[in-house]
Amino acid sequence: ICWSEHGGWHRPRVQPYGPIALDPAAAVLHYAQEIFEGLKAYRHADGSVWSFRPEANAARMQRSAKRLALPELPTEYFIDSLKQLLAVDADWVPSAPETSLYLRPFMFAKEAFLGVRAAKKVNYYVIASPAGAYFTGGVAPVSIWLSTDYARAGKGGTGAAKTGGNYASSLLAQQEAAENGCAQVLFLDSAEGKYVEELGGMNVVLVYKDGTLVTPKSDSILEGITRDSILDLARDRGHKVEERRVSIDEWREGVASGDIVEMFACGTAAVVTPISQIKGAEFTIGSADAEAGPLTMSLREELTDIQYGRREDTRGWMVRLDA
Ligand code: PMP
Repeated sequence: ICWSEHGGWHRPRVQPYGPIALDPAAAVLHYAQEIFEGLKAYRHADGSVWSFRPEANAARMQRSAKRLALPELPTEYFIDSLKQLLAVDADWVPSAPETSLYLRPFMFAKEAFLGVRAAKKVNYYVIASPAGAYFTGGVAPVSIWLSTDYARAGKGGTGAAKTGGNYASSLLAQQEAAENGCAQVLFLDSAEGKYVEELGGMNVVLVYKDGTLVTPKSDSILEGITRDSILDLARDRGHKVEERRVSIDEWREGVASGDIVEMFACGTAAVVTPISQIKGAEFTIGSADAEAGPLTMSLREELTDIQYGRREDTRGWMVRLDA
């Protein structure tokens, strides 16, 4: 779909996958004025195709758009774009267990100019790609690298928006994580280098001995839809849930004293993935051979059961895409 200052959103169409022609002066190539989303289409046992809370992705994209001075795409257009893509061929959604079709809506500044200002011509696209497990090794616990040299986002910055620049700033840290045998990087806040933010592409949740789930509160993290959903499921099971600042020292001491009993990463791609250890230049939290926590795994199961239609969706989270 195209957008222009005068014409608004127009020209929705589905076209064969292929390169996009861009003017070398297209604003996105210089000033990174772009945003994206990530969600999945799941095939249920009766063959129908569903997505999980797409309104939440649409709302987040609208918040990202506002921050990046891009036009807001109405929720209805967002959901319709997914439906129209699947109307071409719903068989793109795989049916093997725990597979899905990853959907990547994105929007960028297409207008060609070299001055620095918000573009007046913007394009929105959705591409799709079949997805299996994000981490090789399935749901085996993963090691995370604690980055102390790099921050992902700062106060007043774009950290809460899903925009490429945040990922560009995380790439070097992510490389460092891989060099240290870790699956993801853990970022701390940029001001004090003390409070836990999130991973390169996932949120984190800690489980305390008394059953309380704690997740970092911050203005500069991406508010994950998986995190929100998992916390909702936990609350309904009677767990206390806290969104608050968590220092890396609290995490380290909590694991050492046995006060923190489970830790996991969550996101659309990772679903819910247990964390075995945090490796840092100066210390390690947990141990490489730690096993997946029982609450982690049962929340993962409940969530995926809803997503794959194996359990009743009592919250109205699932939206059908092929009808
Ligand atoms: N944080 C970051 C930086 C991410 O890229 C993602 C993945 N979109 C998440 C958190 C988790 O968000 P969600 O659960 O909506 O996928």
